[in-house]
Amino acid sequence: MTAERKITDLQALVSDLSPQDRALANRIFAVSTTTGRLDPPEAMYAWIAKSFGSVDRVTAQRIVKVTNLITLEGTLFNELRASRPLDTGVSLDLDREIAATEGDPFCRPKDGTPADVFGRVEGEHATTASNVAKYDGFHGVVVFDDHNPLHLTPGKVADYVSVGLEWGRKALEADPEARYPFLMWNCLWRAGGSIIHGHAQVTATRGSHYPKVERLRRAASAYRREHGSDYFGDLALVHDSLGLDIPLEGVRAFASLSPIKEKELVAIGGEPGDPSLSRAVGALLQGFVSDLGVRAFNVAFYMPPLGPTDEDWSDFPTVVYIVDRGDPANRTSDMGAMELYAASVVASDPFRVAGVLREGQASP
Ligand SMILES: [Zn+2]
Repeated sequence: MTAERKITDLQALVSDLSPQDRALANRIFAVSTTTGRLDPPEAMYAWIAKSFGSVDRVTAQRIVKVTNLITLEGTLFNELRASRPLDTGVSLDLDREIAATEGDPFCRPKDGTPADVFGRVEGEHATTASNVAKYDGFHGVVVFDDHNPLHLTPGKVADYVSVGLEWGRKALEADPEARYPFLMWNCLWRAGGSIIHGHAQVTATRGSHYPKVERLRRAASAYRREHGSDYFGDLALVHDSLGLDIPLEGVRAFASLSPIKEKELVAIGGEPGDPSLSRAVGALLQGFVSDLGVRAFNVAFYMPPLGPTDEDWSDFPTVVYIVDRGDPANRTSDMGAMELYAASVVASDPFRVAGVLREGQASP
């Protein structure tokens, strides 16, 4: 293994690629580096050294800006922000807090939750319910048998996904216009989950896909027209060439160079129902929880529609996003105006994220 790679050296790492790999990286990503400087009074030195390790780390801070030129998603990386002092004001024993809510309606879904008009889908580890206050015309909940959402395994996650996809097929039978399925998982409060009991959510929409999914389809389609090449394959190649890939059966998974927030992983697979894809997502989530200490996370499945449409989805794979939403004990939101309206600001280094997950895969 060569010296540890760092996101702050990304420009040099791209320059060191083979000409072909470098051309591909530069086609998809713009990378620039800048140094932010400040001049603290001596009275602050002790506090800065205690909070950030040394005064030098703060007086000159290296910041890398990565922009995906195809999708116009982008991230500013500053490692220093990982160690910034936070006034969290809350401390809690998460396991105890999760256990304290046992006996909720999701612990007995048949009595505690409504069914959809087409009934329930039952899997080995989960049962569906109809969401009481809906995002869209069809909005279901995949209620896990496990109360504690962090007790996940690749096998259980594969079942949750399979139950969610079957729910999508039932929704399509009930309404042939509801062709566009979306599967998501908001784990714990910081990720937008209002109920602790383990659950994912599924929706089915009409007319066109959700705008962020459609935007990605259009970007990939324009990329194919311009370069005669598959955007998703090329995106994975760039991450592979830099050493950000996480080898797993049946998918191309990597720690993203333009994460929406901390530790974002992307898994690109074929059919959404391919069990090796959902097991790989489960393995990544298991690594997230056990190797990276993540507690609150979001998962989203971008999938092609289940029926024929006017627009062309023939090259669109299944793309799964996984992102860490921060420590449940922390009261500061991980997203502010920068993330909502400008670019994401991220402290976690994707090279470290990929390294930790690769090690975890190697030693089950
Ligand atoms: Zn429960």
